[in-house]
Amino acid sequence: SGRVGGKAALITGAAGGLGQAMARMLAREGAKVTLTDVDLAGVRALARAINADHPGAAFAFSHDVTDEAEWVSVIDQAVDAMGGLSILINNAGIGGDLVWSEQDTLRNWRRVQAVNVESIMLGCKHAMPHLRTSGAGSIINISSVAGLAAAPGMGAYNATKAAVWMYTKTIALEAAKGGWNVRCNSIHPVFIKTPILDPFVALAGGDEKVAHEKLARGIPLKRIGEPDDVAYCVLYLASDESKFVTGAEFKIDGGMLA
Ligand code: NAD
Repeated sequence: SGRVGGKAALITGAAGGLGQAMARMLAREGAKVTLTDVDLAGVRALARAINADHPGAAFAFSHDVTDEAEWVSVIDQAVDAMGGLSILINNAGIGGDLVWSEQDTLRNWRRVQAVNVESIMLGCKHAMPHLRTSGAGSIINISSVAGLAAAPGMGAYNATKAAVWMYTKTIALEAAKGGWNVRCNSIHPVFIKTPILDPFVALAGGDEKVAHEKLARGIPLKRIGEPDDVAYCVLYLASDESKFVTGAEFKIDGGMLA
């Protein structure tokens, strides 16, 4: 029972702020969840916490999303553990260096590309055979408002999140054309309270409250987001409630890009 009862989800970057919120919400609504991250201790602790409330619901594996061989083995292990795979949430991502273009480096670009974009190609490619056989697959790619609108100082991040947005549509159309019963959508959050905002806190002299107030100034609803603001959208896209929705983008931005 639950809105995603009987479904099996793999969440990358699940030790982070958004990943944890999605994992808890999907488990609460009846899904099995495989949590992966380079931070193995982080996903193990989260799996223990989820299993305390929902025995046998959560599994944790070490996973660098830039590595194709790791994708192959993690998907194998997830399918074994959960008895299948119906939902892939490509959530792992990094902000990269907060620098203007003249200070930017190829090293920064390659790293941000690998973690934010190449990971998604690898995940979609290797999960697709399982999502197809599940009969009702859903891929949810976590992009950003930064994939839809630019800001000075985040060139690599902007470019990668725009790539995620467009690649989502390619996958959606291929899956629709193939008649695979797999949907693919992207989510575009504005600033959400997670460790990824640490560089902005550092810019505000380490004062988190001041940093969050500063970031909230450009947002019509006058606050930054909470992880659950994003997790509710993930829940909808993971469930069959969204069965007519594919190739779409969802802004979770307090009106910022309205
Ligand atoms: P976070 O830093 O809390 O979590 C990111 C997680 O990804 C971390 O646990 C980290 O260990 C993991 N990770 C980093 N590199 C990895 C790799 N190579 N392989 C596997 N895991 C790796 O940040 P978050 O806010 O939870 O971010 C989740 C997603 O949401 C990211 O894609 C981010 O770009 C996006 N996003 C966040 C915000 C925000 O303000 N928090 C806004 C828009 C988009």
